[in-house]
Amino acid sequence: MVNESAPKPHVAFLPSPGMGHITPLYELAVRLVTQHNFQVTFFVVTAGATIAQDSYITAYPLPDLHIVDLPLPKVSNQVLDEMTTVARLCYVVEQSIRPLRSVINGLKRPKPKALVIDMFCTGVFEACKDLSIPVYSFFTASTFLLTFSLYLPTLDYKGDGEFVDQPEPVKVPGCTPIRTQDLMVLVPKSMINEYKLWFMHISRLSMVSGIFVNSWEDLEPVSLKAVKHEPFFVDIPTPPVYPIGPLTKQVEPVLSEYEKETIAWLDEQPRDSVLFVALGSGGTLTSEQLTELAWGLELSQQRFVLVVRKPSDCAISGFFSAGRDADDPMAYLPDGFVERTNRVGRVVSSWAPQVAVLSHMSTGAFLTHCGWNSIVESVKYGVPMIAWPLYAEQRLNAAMLSDEVGVAVRMPVVGEGGETVMVGRKEIESVVKAVMEGEDGKKLRKRAKELEASGRETLSCGGSSYDTLARVAESWSIKT
Ligand code: UDP
Repeated sequence: MVNESAPKPHVAFLPSPGMGHITPLYELAVRLVTQHNFQVTFFVVTAGATIAQDSYITAYPLPDLHIVDLPLPKVSNQVLDEMTTVARLCYVVEQSIRPLRSVINGLKRPKPKALVIDMFCTGVFEACKDLSIPVYSFFTASTFLLTFSLYLPTLDYKGDGEFVDQPEPVKVPGCTPIRTQDLMVLVPKSMINEYKLWFMHISRLSMVSGIFVNSWEDLEPVSLKAVKHEPFFVDIPTPPVYPIGPLTKQVEPVLSEYEKETIAWLDEQPRDSVLFVALGSGGTLTSEQLTELAWGLELSQQRFVLVVRKPSDCAISGFFSAGRDADDPMAYLPDGFVERTNRVGRVVSSWAPQVAVLSHMSTGAFLTHCGWNSIVESVKYGVPMIAWPLYAEQRLNAAMLSDEVGVAVRMPVVGEGGETVMVGRKEIESVVKAVMEGEDGKKLRKRAKELEASGRETLSCGGSSYDTLARVAESWSIKT
């Protein structure tokens, strides 16, 4: 029998900045509060917070979900501006979690039963050991990347990334071989310090009490089987892995007039007829590539919603400004593009309510940078993808989605030597047409709809993801 007067069990969360990290941890927190009767403290690293993440975590307040801002550390903007994205992310997290021990001690709630962190917050172990709070990781990328990450210290015991120079694919035990071309952005020779930081965090994965993944058996059967049963992973030993996906943002409140008009425009379009083009929270294209993309869309004569950002030579230049763009990115599209495509397309500046668009009946495909959240959102709403990977592990995701899952086609953006290649308008036109109206598109859409149904099932009471989370929640509730 539930003791009404006993305080609800309490769990704390610590994500690093960025929508891709915040979203799954926040959605897990929401589930614990709304389905499993927990209270949650959700720490925010304010130093890297973006407009997009602030509006998201304040959109639907819940009485038992307490947002607690970590004090802003003294970091010089000049120092930050000179850092690469991963270095900056790791640095602001490291500085922000210094007072974590005293912040947790000062909370007017029972001691947390667990602290759930994401992959860049592994500096908490000492504080949590002192406070006797077990640490869980929410690995916010694919299980495929998780298997690679757990194998990495064995593959690359020196931590210098030499293995990407080998011609043969990397074979993670029990998993589909990975072409080294697809690893070169993740293990960049030109940014070895970034890789070393990531390597350090990844090497600490085996120290956690459990690892959540935003996935489920039907989406990633190969990697989930490997990580649970393959002797290599059993022997590490790998902490228990809990697939609890698909966890995605709820449909966003549609706020601005332009967003309302875009959704109203979608309402008028035929079912599955619109291609949604968005490159994650920070993805950007070069000026030349953006021009080719715009021309490719126009030539394809398909309906589209295109999210446009100011072009950049760095593929992730929008990461710390997600949700806003100081310039008018429309100025970077070909002359007359917006007017000429007015009847079939909508151009959105910088940020769109992505889940509202993907869950709309008119959306028929998604041209995506293959961030894991975007993929899970697409699959959850039965939308096939055109994979246009840009940075981090996105090339691995693209390969898995096309070769293993059968829910995407790859845009040929990776050259034989692993370099990023420019895709011309004709190629873009043909891929878009094939997915929107060709036989290939039909197969992808069928597969996406199957996964949509399986995602719904696994999250409902009695489904595998629901039950997995219920078991962990139960173990936290009874722990003294
Ligand atoms: N997103 C959005 N509107 C946009 C672009 C992105 O709402 O115009 C959201 C998207 O729904 C997803 C997140 O930003 O939840 C991006 O996360 P993902 O893991 O796909 O990529 P990342 O930005 O971390 O590379």
